[in-house]
Amino acid sequence: MNIEVWQGDITTLAVDVIVNAANETLLGGGGVDGAIHRAAGPQLLEACARLPEVRPGVRCPTGEVRATPGFRLPAQHVFHAVGPVWRDGTHHEPELLANCYWQSLRLAEQMDLHSIAFPAISCGIYGYPLQLAARVAVSETLAWEKSHKVPRRIVLVAFNEAMYKAYQQQLAQALPQVA
Ligand code: ADP
Repeated sequence: MNIEVWQGDITTLAVDVIVNAANETLLGGGGVDGAIHRAAGPQLLEACARLPEVRPGVRCPTGEVRATPGFRLPAQHVFHAVGPVWRDGTHHEPELLANCYWQSLRLAEQMDLHSIAFPAISCGIYGYPLQLAARVAVSETLAWEKSHKVPRRIVLVAFNEAMYKAYQQQLAQALPQVA
């Protein structure tokens, strides 16, 4: 199994690509997005601003992903994924969150990137319940690695103990089914 759970700051990881939990403007925000922009330096915001808008103010619709270089980060690339805002679970939140993982993995494969690290997309300001988000992250990444060779290293990054435990629990539940 090439899926790791790691607790810490995603901006420190020397992987091929780190995923950002961005918003649709791609023009910066708080949480992990703010941390990634601070660590990457101002060129990251310039690169995001150059990405075309698909409609006014929207560079990346919810559930989609856009790529930029990593600039001053140890990671070579940043994939900006926009997770859903949690409402009540009946507004396509699981599918939209799953798309963030699947589209990021697909883009990594297309770009031949071998290691990828994800933050807990939607689990901060966007309010997604941790266990439900962890279930989506684990099921999508496990399904990917069962059927694809690249990327071969997938890191699920937890910024705190609660998220770390949620990932461990969901992996433990999912693994007997894939064994
Ligand atoms: P969203 O708007 O998608 O909810 P947030 O950035 O608010 O995005 O939170 C997403 C997750 O990223 C949360 O679990 C938060 O604890 C985590 N996080 C915040 N800073 C970092 C960081 N430097 N490294 C890894 N994860 C982080």
